Amino acid sequence: MSSHNTLVSDQETLGKLLASRWKEACAVVDRLEDLNVGWAIGESEHFRKERGFAVTRFFGDGQFHLIWSEEILGQPLSRVDAITCHEIGHVADFGLPFIEDHLKEALPERMETVVVPPESQRELRADCLAYLLFDVLIRYDSEDIQTLDPSGVAPRPERLGL
Ligand SMILES: [Zn+2]
Repeated sequence: MSSHNTLVSDQETLGKLLASRWKEACAVVDRLEDLNVGWAIGESEHFRKERGFAVTRFFGDGQFHLIWSEEILGQPLSRVDAITCHEIGHVADFGLPFIEDHLKEALPERMETVVVPPESQRELRADCLAYLLFDVLIRYDSEDIQTLDPSGVAPRPERLGL
């Protein structure tokens, strides 16, 4: 088991992490298997912002593409894993209409105490769906980037956009 301080330094590790988190999500809500999530390291307008490490594009018809900034290689696992879980939260949100209903069916007890934020708060929804699918709390570190490290703050600070 690798520690959260381990750096993710190659594409193979990145690919395996995404594949394993995706499998985990599909095991909770099996309808997610109908979606297709590709990925690549590439360019995005979003990466000009210092905080931008990943962006997920939705092409309709269940097709998603997660673009990682080159800077992702060399980042700690606690950061890369948190971003991965957050982005899968967006995929579940945009890919499955009525995701709350699927979650109520899959996780009836947990859904009794969790209120999924409204669609007007897509970022909070992504973090909440990550919480439900992976049982992880997405926090934000001193650079305002997602982290699983307990030193981060949660929920997502309002100034980052909800
Ligand atoms: Zn997001």
